[in-house]
Amino acid sequence: MLDSLNFWLNNSLQWGKTPQEWLSPLFYVLSTEKRVFWGYLLVNGLLALLVLSQQKERIVGSLRKMFSKRVWLHPSVKLDVKLIFLNQWLWLLLIAPLLTSQVAIALSSYRFLVDRFGPGDFVPSTLMGVSVIYSVTLFLIDDFTRFYIHRLYHQHPRLWRFHAVHHSATLLTPFTLYRMHIVEMLINSCRSLLVFGLCGGIFIYLVDGKITPVEILGTSIFGFLFNIAGSNLRHSHIWLGWGFIERWVLSPAQHQIHHSAHPQHFNKNYGVMIALWDRWFNSWVPSKGETVTQFGLNEMASDQTLRHHWLGIA
Ligand SMILES: [Zn+2]
Ligand SMILES: [Zn+2]
Repeated sequence: MLDSLNFWLNNSLQWGKTPQEWLSPLFYVLSTEKRVFWGYLLVNGLLALLVLSQQKERIVGSLRKMFSKRVWLHPSVKLDVKLIFLNQWLWLLLIAPLLTSQVAIALSSYRFLVDRFGPGDFVPSTLMGVSVIYSVTLFLIDDFTRFYIHRLYHQHPRLWRFHAVHHSATLLTPFTLYRMHIVEMLINSCRSLLVFGLCGGIFIYLVDGKITPVEILGTSIFGFLFNIAGSNLRHSHIWLGWGFIERWVLSPAQHQIHHSAHPQHFNKNYGVMIALWDRWFNSWVPSKGETVTQFGLNEMASDQTLRHHWLGIA
């Protein structure tokens, strides 16, 4: 048990406030833990070329478009960048101090289980498959809660005004992922603390010894697979659908439908990876037969200034 708690503490308290952290968005592309890590961007770029060649697009023209000044200096992209920095600073001030509460949540749930059901440590951590069960459980709960909160953002006007900041992007690039209002970031962080704290507490109770999730390059195995399968194309103009697989795993094209400015696409495909949640809640739309010609919200929301987005979008 102590091993597990030490592991938790080391993981949760590693966030110091060094000066570099204030500039860390500049280094996102170098961090293997970020979706925009250069290795993932490279693999996703190659995937994009493959898609374009299949669609008989002119590759040189598309490449030129991908790297054109008109894209990267577009007001929508400039706002993405401003929000990335602003959010990182607010995150350091408001959210990073909360991270220790993940340990407190894990410890409280562990103590609750011991008080209620007696000492745990039923399964040795050395048993084959324990890490896999831990990783799969975390992944399923994490993915479902992300879906459910995303759905709440769309259904409740008070929450929508904050989530609308992500949707007001009229041009999608992989960095649009970080275009988020601080209130949404705070809610998402609380969700993550609860999920990882509670799951951690339960597994520390059940498992005797140190338990670690299955990871590649510092990210969960599911996150790694998601990233090399084109996660960055979700926020891009490259249309990559996955045919029948979309019934189980959401494709990049399905997230583009989620960003579509066409009313028939509103409130569809809330999920991150697993498509089942959207199917159960009747918000699932396959990419086949759909086209998205415009991203963003209405004209009122097309003002791409920080001032316009500061309090959310009504
Ligand atoms: Zn949304
Ligand atoms: Zn998005």
